[in-house]
Amino acid sequence: MATATTLLDDIEEIMPGVIADRRWLHEHPELSFHEVETARFVAERLQGLGIEDVRTGIGGNGVTGLIRGGRGDGHVLMVRADMDALAILEENSAEYVSQNPGVMHACGHDAHTAMLLGLTRILLDRKAEFAGTVKLLFQPAEEMHPGGAIGMIRDGALEDPHVDASLGLHVQSGTEAGLIGIRPGLGSANSDRFKITIQGKGGHASRPDAAVDPVVIGSHIVTAFQTLVSRETDPLEPAVVSTTVLQAGEAFNVIPDTAEMRGTVRTFNQAVREHIAIRLPEIAEGIADALGGSANATYMRGYPSIQNDPAMVEIVRAAAIAAVGEANVFEPPIGLGGEDYSYFSLEVPSCFFYVGVGNEERGITWGHHHPKFDIEEEGMTAGLATMAGAVISYLNS
Ligand code: MN
Repeated sequence: MATATTLLDDIEEIMPGVIADRRWLHEHPELSFHEVETARFVAERLQGLGIEDVRTGIGGNGVTGLIRGGRGDGHVLMVRADMDALAILEENSAEYVSQNPGVMHACGHDAHTAMLLGLTRILLDRKAEFAGTVKLLFQPAEEMHPGGAIGMIRDGALEDPHVDASLGLHVQSGTEAGLIGIRPGLGSANSDRFKITIQGKGGHASRPDAAVDPVVIGSHIVTAFQTLVSRETDPLEPAVVSTTVLQAGEAFNVIPDTAEMRGTVRTFNQAVREHIAIRLPEIAEGIADALGGSANATYMRGYPSIQNDPAMVEIVRAAAIAAVGEANVFEPPIGLGGEDYSYFSLEVPSCFFYVGVGNEERGITWGHHHPKFDIEEEGMTAGLATMAGAVISYLNS
């Protein structure tokens, strides 16, 4: 088996191509659910490399392909990259600035796609070294609910051949290039929303007895929601219920007819999440009913939490240490961001890790989704070396 050093050498050799791909993708960003040219670029590249069974139009603009190892049958490992960009007007002046004004790769998905194409080349060169199959998966629409992952799963992306495990990564501009972040367990929060319409009975403010006041009902509901976290869910499991909108009325002397509430729920634990998803509408509707009005509550599930499998995490950690050394591998704190890789992680043992692409010296520190977001492209080397090492090690385990 090749050593990490020669793996790194191979990666260094293809890095100019990876950077060129990333820049082409950066110049040609497409919004979620509209990644037509991006998907075409990916599919043509895979076909050009002789990748087996290239499939397009999976769950919208998704693309998949297979690399079969030379050591016979074995596990099937899926590696995922997302391809979509954001509705942001880029404020950078690099030569590879977005050619599609108002659309920008401001989250680094251009790097993810370019890195998976680079990984494809590395794994093709080394397919004699592993058994089993790599399923390359290029996913659309990470940035927009309901996301592209769920559609690809529904379209059978995890079957034929059946996927046994998966890996994914995200670049991070807040982390210096050369560093790799890995954390076992939860990788992101369940990020849900709610919307409630309260129906009261409007009237003169001097005659509340003849009205049903939706403002008072809404106030009781906001207060009652505080007991969801403090009285109903496991105190050892974090949860947030924030009512962010309570809108009603316009005049000093009029009791309004209706009120509207909106807000956000963040959880990590699925049982806690499901409890709140059921109880939040029950409380809203029950209180409105008790106070003589009515409420119509809708609970909208966003992306679930990423679940990082301990065994997969260990494989990635070992590969990262081989690639960049133990001192450059760290455990990031859990983030509250949403990431629809979570859907894959709920289906098969998975690990989603972070690749530093910041460079403070060069001023590459702008946050994700910022109009000045950019990456230190050299950081992709460490990410690729980690991913390639993890793939080969998993498939030989
Ligand atoms: Mn992203």
